[in-house]
Amino acid sequence: MSTNQDTHQARNAGARRQTKARDIAHACKAMLHSLVAALGVHLPNTDHIPEPLAGKIRAGQIAAILRLTPVMMIANLLNVGTVDWLFWQSDHQVFLIAWSALTITLAVTGLRSWWRNRPLLQNDGLPRRSRSSKSIRRMIINSAVLALLWSMVPITLFAQAEPGARMFIAVLTSGMMSAGALALSTVPLAALTYTFMLALASAFALISAAEPVLVYIGVILLIYTWILAKTTTWKADMFISRLIDQAQLVKQNELIGLLLRDFEESASDWLWEIDEQGRLQHVSMRLAAMLGQPAAALQNRRFREVFCPHAGHAGTGNLQLVEDLIAKRAPFRDQVVAVTIGGIDGWWSLCGKPVFDETGAYRGYRGVGSDVTQSRRAQERIAQMARFDGLTGLPNRAHFRELLSARIAGEAATSPPALICIDLDQFKSVNDSMGHTVGDRLLVCIAGRLTDTVGDTAIVARLAGDEFAVLPSGPLREEDVVELARKVIAIISLPYQLHGKQVQIGASAGIALTGDGACSPEQLMNNADLALYTAKNEGHGQFRVFGPAIDAEVRKRRTMTEDLQAALKADEFSLHYQPVISACDNSLRGFEALLRWTHPVKGAISPADFIPVAEESGLMDEIGAWVIRTACAEAASWPRAVTLAVNLSPTQFHNAQLLNIILGALGTSGLSPRRLELEITETALLTHSTATVNTLNHLRSIGVRIALDDFGTGYASLSYLRGFPFDRIKIDQSFVRDAIERPDCAAIVKATIGLAASLGMASTAEGVETGAQFDWLRDQGCTDVQGYLFSRPRPAEDLPKMFEQGEKLFADVARKVA
Ligand code: C2E
Ligand code: MG
Ligand code: MG
Repeated sequence: MSTNQDTHQARNAGARRQTKARDIAHACKAMLHSLVAALGVHLPNTDHIPEPLAGKIRAGQIAAILRLTPVMMIANLLNVGTVDWLFWQSDHQVFLIAWSALTITLAVTGLRSWWRNRPLLQNDGLPRRSRSSKSIRRMIINSAVLALLWSMVPITLFAQAEPGARMFIAVLTSGMMSAGALALSTVPLAALTYTFMLALASAFALISAAEPVLVYIGVILLIYTWILAKTTTWKADMFISRLIDQAQLVKQNELIGLLLRDFEESASDWLWEIDEQGRLQHVSMRLAAMLGQPAAALQNRRFREVFCPHAGHAGTGNLQLVEDLIAKRAPFRDQVVAVTIGGIDGWWSLCGKPVFDETGAYRGYRGVGSDVTQSRRAQERIAQMARFDGLTGLPNRAHFRELLSARIAGEAATSPPALICIDLDQFKSVNDSMGHTVGDRLLVCIAGRLTDTVGDTAIVARLAGDEFAVLPSGPLREEDVVELARKVIAIISLPYQLHGKQVQIGASAGIALTGDGACSPEQLMNNADLALYTAKNEGHGQFRVFGPAIDAEVRKRRTMTEDLQAALKADEFSLHYQPVISACDNSLRGFEALLRWTHPVKGAISPADFIPVAEESGLMDEIGAWVIRTACAEAASWPRAVTLAVNLSPTQFHNAQLLNIILGALGTSGLSPRRLELEITETALLTHSTATVNTLNHLRSIGVRIALDDFGTGYASLSYLRGFPFDRIKIDQSFVRDAIERPDCAAIVKATIGLAASLGMASTAEGVETGAQFDWLRDQGCTDVQGYLFSRPRPAEDLPKMFEQGEKLFADVARKVA
């Protein structure tokens, strides 16, 4: 129990002693601070420095002192020896023994401390270890003790010393003061404590000698001490600032290192560096991984041999440009170079900046690189898609135009280029009847046949859906181009085996030659298009060469378009009506409205001539709407049993407004929808859509009937008869005309009548001109007839007379025939 109490008391006493010592230290420090402040000396302020850094700065301050410790302590020992030798004969032997013992002990302690800390003193930068404020305090105390010991020398020995010895003491103390101040300067309080104590002791010794010279020297000493104090604190300030800067630099370097590591680890980019000879330096792990070689193996390798080891990959990379820029020491950004790594071609994007050292000498390049192969390939794909047809891989219209321009610019002088435009016949029906997969496959096969046929002698392009173009190269005469067109049509027309089925298709071609006055790509393509259009109009599987005749035809069409526009405004159109007769009882069923145009100068123009022009120029929608309105208004005044047939152009058929126009005409005229029949041709069906079928169904649902006009002349397949809601088939007059003489025509007419009957449709034979034709048709079961035999198309004003004659009119005709 008492032992515990003793220990407790001892601890308390120790703590009290420590507190007292700390208080004394604080008081001394405060005194020193006041003294220093009073002397106008500014101690470096380190209060704002955060503790971890302050600890390192303290370590730096102490390390700087320790580094000089051996020299200082050896000097101390030498000085102790000199003082002892000089003053041993004096009466101060006891003092000298005690003083020397203490000083030597202190010097040896200092040397021991230096020896222990030696490994930490190698680097004169910011130390890695920290030091506490206690270490600084200890340093100040050590300095104070050393100063105290050396102060004894002037105080004790100066007064009775010989002039020579006095001189020695003066030199010794001033030397010790200056050297000590400088050696301790990194801890300013230690330096000032040391300097002030030694200075005061020396000044005291000098002044107390009471000799004017010595007093004067004492005053000078104090003044120098003040200068020394100022220099010391200034040096300390510099030293501490340098350590703070170093700390910041280390921090920045660590941060940069961290960012770079993070960049290398997470980004797809990598860093590269070359020396002044263009050899790779500090190869990063990522770059090594990119190149598939160890970093060490890449060190000092040449830029070119690393980035482009094989000359095979030409690409479009600009390695040469990068090398030129490096030679010029110019910075560069986003330079794409073609690389071949491990036999695989790719592209790298490089940015680089020249590096110069502090003397301005070139030291190489540093930069960032990234693998842009993927984006480059994507770009190339996009460019490819923009210029080539995705299905056939042939150049598309835009690219073909470029090629044509280049050909015209390059060869026009030597061999004027020729152009063949090709359009497939009945491609729509293949697509409709066999599906789009077969259609696409067919286009690919055609593209293949075309390229195989022309080989390297021409460029083949796909201009649109079923439109192709051939641009022959080299000097060609017109006959050669014609021969090539013939060959192309023949090769396309050979049968194809697609998905186990045989498919056959034809083609028409239009040829344009530069000699026709065409010199621009647009003009040449336009001429070829016009020739193609003419070829298609004249029948399928044909070709035409653009020439004056087609040109004249085009001009004629242009004039006619202008005239048609004027005709609409000038009310030059009228309608004639041709009766449709029932073959069973010779009664009048109704009338077909037929458009008439009387040109003010050229007179009557046939619908067969102007309707195609109106369709092409887009005027047919407006003219057709006028026909529907006028015919419905006229028919509304006819006897209720008489029907009206109106022809619809393919362009009208595809017009989204058609339903509204018809409903409007019926509504305005008051004509019953049941009395209206619309005649559409097979051509209209070739480009139908769901919307057009919906329109027909809608019209049928309100009672309007639909007839398929000119059956047998178009290109529609029989499947349309199943898919479309027809009420009537009109047999084209070309078959009717020859039905009596030609068995093939008779067979077609018979088959058509039978087909209509079996599908529950009525049949009308057009162009019936003779009684024999009428008899034969009636015998075949044709339900209705129409033709000059009964009446030519008549103007509206003739119709009332027909109605008056009624049944009698056509019964008479029929009787005469019989
Ligand atoms: P289509 O619809 O087949 O009309 C019958 C054509 O045959 C009419 O010729 C008519 O005059 C003619 N025709 C009638 N009976 C006979 C005959 O016994 N012998 C001969 N040789 N011909 C006969 P048109 O009026 O010249 O009309 C020609 C074509 O123009 C029409 O053929 C039709 O496709 C088109 N068309 C006429 N009017 C219009 C119209 O208002 N709109 C549209 N879209 N086309 C019309
Ligand atoms: Mg017709
Ligand atoms: Mg017809």
